Amino acid sequence: MARRKREAEVRAQRAVIVRGRSDEVGRGTAMPSSWGLGEGQQIPWEYAPAPESRDIVQLKSRYGLFVGGKEIAPRSGQWFTTVDPSTEEPLAEVARAGVEDVEHAVGVARRAFRREWGDLPGRERAKYLFRIARILQERSREFAVLESLDGGKPIRESRDVDVPLAAAHFWYYAGWADKLEYAFPGRDPRPLGVAAQIIPWNFPLLMLAWKIAPALAAGNTVVLKPASSTPLSALFFADVCRQADLPPGVVNIVTGPGEIGMALVKHPDIDKVAFTGSTVVGKEIGRAIAGSDKALTLELGGKAANIIFDDAPIEQAIEGVVNGIFFNQGEVCCAGSRLLVQESIADTFIDRLKDRLSTLRVGDPLDKNTDVGAINNAAQLARIEEMIEAGQAEGADMYQPACELPARGWFVRPTLFTNVSQSSRIAQEEIFGPVLSVITFRTPAEAIEKANNTPYGLSAGVWTEKGSRILSMVSQLRAGVVWANTFNRFDPTSPFGGYKESGFGREGGLHGLLAYLDLDGGH
Ligand code: NDP
Repeated sequence: MARRKREAEVRAQRAVIVRGRSDEVGRGTAMPSSWGLGEGQQIPWEYAPAPESRDIVQLKSRYGLFVGGKEIAPRSGQWFTTVDPSTEEPLAEVARAGVEDVEHAVGVARRAFRREWGDLPGRERAKYLFRIARILQERSREFAVLESLDGGKPIRESRDVDVPLAAAHFWYYAGWADKLEYAFPGRDPRPLGVAAQIIPWNFPLLMLAWKIAPALAAGNTVVLKPASSTPLSALFFADVCRQADLPPGVVNIVTGPGEIGMALVKHPDIDKVAFTGSTVVGKEIGRAIAGSDKALTLELGGKAANIIFDDAPIEQAIEGVVNGIFFNQGEVCCAGSRLLVQESIADTFIDRLKDRLSTLRVGDPLDKNTDVGAINNAAQLARIEEMIEAGQAEGADMYQPACELPARGWFVRPTLFTNVSQSSRIAQEEIFGPVLSVITFRTPAEAIEKANNTPYGLSAGVWTEKGSRILSMVSQLRAGVVWANTFNRFDPTSPFGGYKESGFGREGGLHGLLAYLDLDGGH
């Protein structure tokens, strides 16, 4: 009894200290008193650097387009440079395709579809997909380092999430390639033809896998345009296609600016368009092909609510919130960028969250201890900084841990806003960076209303011990994916996609396959 009383006193004392402490907390500075070290006491050690060697990636000085199974110089004669966002140093020159290059690539993809791939038995297509999956696994370290170099994401994430999941998508769809008639019984599934695929810079290899694996399994050929700030993993993937002996022209990769993406989308010989990126460009694409018979899937932005009820397992929920918004620097369409926390636990939860934020390590993406890497490009960093200023100007309270940022490269501190009003820009607009807005609620009905008060509808999270409450919330949240007591979990068997301004169509699972098939055999 005496022990319990003493523990309660200590807890109460700590709570007071935590609430009263300075926001200037971070590595090498005074640690939060809630750690039990005594106020102002410092942890006397620092993490040693643990850099992953970049030697495994052999970069050439220049990369051409990948068309017809070969690397070719662009007909446009133009090139651009891709840089390392953590140092701003150039990595390689890459072809800047022109309209004539798009014309050529689509023609090659059409011929490959007509002459070979479109009629190849499913079991044969499956062999190539299995080979690609295996080669990706064999070269996983190389791809992980490359993805971190070109995109700025922490090596731990590219190594443990991006690359294994990319390989898993090829494994999964390889399994379906010879079973399409079982996947859609009583129908006559046929490929659509040539797919134009445009992918963003936040998960370059993974988005490539989400697009190419189901398209090929269903018997389509593709022309894929990667984002200009992260073209390299797609160009290394071209080498994987060669290694797997994939018939020439089945996968074609065209690098270049957004206008090349638009030329590709509008090309009359394209049967299917798949786009992942901003809502603005998604709408442009929708307008550009309206009235044509092209099939379309759009995976656009989001402003997910991560909802914490007062009975949630707090430590788990803190980790879920951190993973939800700081994974990949928050440059994730389904990021949990709005934290909805029940009022009765809000103060404690936010205190603990701040403590956790103060331990995040921001820095070199190739360091295995890094939690938050570099922002992908200078324009994105400027947008994030502008939104942080907007949050302050609108009167929200800002917290940033006092971590040091590297002298070069595009970095930003993890940022938490409290006292955020529902109508403020930071609560409404997609920031696509490590910025979390906290809003409180009292009842489940209020949580639903606030969570759904967004033009987007991609994802959401619910944290509670009550199963019935999870089911009730899931049925009322207007989001394509709802995670319960977890966040940012992906699986090739599970469909992913949004409502409203988050787009339409699903990727992953059988739904993802369906997006590349005509179930009535073209009749
Ligand atoms: P974009 O939507 O502009 O880029 C995504 C892809 O589309 C890139 O390959 C890009 O090429 C291409 N593209 C750009 N313009 C066109 C066009 N007119 N027609 C066809 N393709 C085009 O995203 P940004 O890189 O500009 O990022 C801006 C914002 O978009 C971010 O702040 C974020 O809010 C959101 N975003 C959302 C993503 C998601 O996963 N939902 C992913 C990326 C961004 P290029 O790189 O050459 O411009």
